[in-house]
Amino acid sequence: MSEKRTVHRACPFCEGTCGVSIAVEDDRILSVRGDDADPFSRGFICPKAYGMKEIYEDGERLRRPLRRRGDTWEEIGWQQAYDEIAARMIAIREQYGNDALGTYSGNPVVHDLGALLYRPVFQKALASRSMFNSAAIDTLPKIVQTGFMFGRQFPTGVPVPDIDRTDYLMVIGANPVVSHGSLMTMPDAPGRLKAVRQRGGKLLVIDPRRTETARLADEHLFIRPGTDALFLLAIVHTLFDEGLVELGAADGLVAGLDEVEAAARAYTPERVAERCGIDAATTRRIARELAAAPSAACYGRLGTCVQEFGTLASWGCDLVNILTGNLDRPGGVMFANPAAPIDAALPPGKGYAIGRWRSRVSGQPEVGGLIPSSAMAEEILTPGDGQVRAMFLLMTNSVRSAANSAQLERAFAQLDLLVAVDFYLNETTRHAHYILPTPTAAEHEHYDVGLYCLSVRNVAKWSPAAVHAEADAPHTWEILANLGARLMGFGGAALQDIDDLVVRQYAEPAVAAVAERWPGLSADEALGKLENPIGPKRMVELLLRIGPYGDGFGRNPDGLTMKKLEASVHGIDLGPLQPRLREIINTESGLVELAPSLMLGDLERLERRLAAPAEQLLLIGRRDLRSTNSFTHNLRALVKGPDRCTLQVHPDDAARIGLDDGGKALISSRVGRVIAPVTITDEVMPGVVSLPHGWGHDAEGTRQSTARAHPGVNANLLSDDQAYDTASGTAVLFGTPVSIEPAGLV
Ligand code: SF4
Repeated sequence: MSEKRTVHRACPFCEGTCGVSIAVEDDRILSVRGDDADPFSRGFICPKAYGMKEIYEDGERLRRPLRRRGDTWEEIGWQQAYDEIAARMIAIREQYGNDALGTYSGNPVVHDLGALLYRPVFQKALASRSMFNSAAIDTLPKIVQTGFMFGRQFPTGVPVPDIDRTDYLMVIGANPVVSHGSLMTMPDAPGRLKAVRQRGGKLLVIDPRRTETARLADEHLFIRPGTDALFLLAIVHTLFDEGLVELGAADGLVAGLDEVEAAARAYTPERVAERCGIDAATTRRIARELAAAPSAACYGRLGTCVQEFGTLASWGCDLVNILTGNLDRPGGVMFANPAAPIDAALPPGKGYAIGRWRSRVSGQPEVGGLIPSSAMAEEILTPGDGQVRAMFLLMTNSVRSAANSAQLERAFAQLDLLVAVDFYLNETTRHAHYILPTPTAAEHEHYDVGLYCLSVRNVAKWSPAAVHAEADAPHTWEILANLGARLMGFGGAALQDIDDLVVRQYAEPAVAAVAERWPGLSADEALGKLENPIGPKRMVELLLRIGPYGDGFGRNPDGLTMKKLEASVHGIDLGPLQPRLREIINTESGLVELAPSLMLGDLERLERRLAAPAEQLLLIGRRDLRSTNSFTHNLRALVKGPDRCTLQVHPDDAARIGLDDGGKALISSRVGRVIAPVTITDEVMPGVVSLPHGWGHDAEGTRQSTARAHPGVNANLLSDDQAYDTASGTAVLFGTPVSIEPAGLV
């Protein structure tokens, strides 16, 4: 007899963590709806949530390991795949050294608990310095900036807007109505943004496009791509110049205030106005508004990160927050206090450093163990000691998401070994020698251990699997554990034994880190009392029980346990963000470092850019509501309708170049050329054109027919791996100089 039930869990497709209710009959998904009883998302979902059903049912999704055989593929068994891959990796390591084995993991890892928790274990088994991941595409500037200012490893040192209480939200280079928050976990972004205005607050958007968020705002200002740092430093200048600096909760807890004042002296609103495209009077008015508001938050995201001065722009955002007294203030920017504190398992110590080693070819600094992705292709293509010969890709279509993707495709094609953990044969995995498919989100348990560190409200929700994975299909953590064990020489070990070792590695530093909270608790006691026997769920149970709301393994009987969390099927609201700046600061000085030398030193580069002539046409990206990762392009419900992969051009530029709406344009950059259909619109500022990324599905050898029927063009054929934010090594994806001509003349 068939069994009908409803499973409540979090949606896995963006950082919003919306609650969904999935109606299921046996292992058939009947529907996906918003969970009205979820205390965080209150029933909100966007069209992507339905993708959980479509991706689960997608007949083109891979179910068994594939091994390349010339130009074709053959299915093999899991044990054979593990054995062959491990043997080939070990042989490469023995011949060329540890750094010859590289890894790259993509954004979906954050939505797969097993991948997130077992990736470090696998990386440890590799013992290689050739580590790349998607954070190195779009997040390193924020990681580096908050690391130096607060002394914390990502993500616990990133303050997020207290959006539900703010009186003034300045959004710069971000489009939360479409992204639903990034480095800011915020379900129902449209509702939360509208509420700012409904309670009498102000929403200001600064962006080269009149975005979906800008349409909800009180005010929108265009800004030239790559000039956010100049604009934010002009705000900082005005705050000092007009005697508006007020530190609020940070008073007595900062170092470097005089250095910041001196550094900002050169950036008068009048001096930067023409370059930014924002007149000086407006900049000064905004500075006064931010200072006068009862509470205010400056939030910057992709547009402030993936550009030439990403670290300086990220620094500018937090300087504005701190100097207007809004750090750690309700309604300002605050730090989440997650129920399962993943940072408890990080090595102890004060301060923050980058560049403990540098990449072999262009000398990019290591950040948190990662080499910037802009260096990945050159590390594969450039001969010599330490050349990367094999790559292990974890859930990434990086030849569509990384800069200069044609070069990266050439690099992947020449590897001795490419292994991809992915459930699609896509533009990247078609270069692989082995593809190891994982179950989809509906088939695995989940807890947002990373995203709740960046949440605008403290919440906790356990996501059970809605349907069973296929009989012998391993979960991602099992794939990583099996391969990792073989690489460390424990190939014959039982999964339980491997997992016991892994959980102990987490437990010992994590329990030591909370010794003050739970006196007398030892790792042995905690491990002995865990009720879940194996896997990621056991680790989440450990973190929950030692966390700030936990039961401390019996020391706080009313505290949170995994059982209580599972019983609260819609999730648990743990309340609004609370002040915790003193707890967060982990610098060697014990103060928030306002003027790290990395940022001060980078101002010289900013000056040089200001002195150089402005580029005439700059390309930026954009994201649309129905697209996150490129895998969503194989889901019919998310690609239907008119072509969204068009080049947006301002009418003045279109007239000057001779482009027609609906016609085609040839776009050229230093590294590539593409032809894209044109949309003429005043939604982009003059001198700026916009093309979304993640498209370009016309490559041979993929197995994604829906995506192939809606190919679009690959914007990252234009982005330049050699143009990057020097401070963090992040490639410029927004602000690529391009030339454009009508395609009909080519
Ligand atoms: S906003 Fe994000 S989390 Fe919410 S339903 Fe859409 S994709 Fe899912």
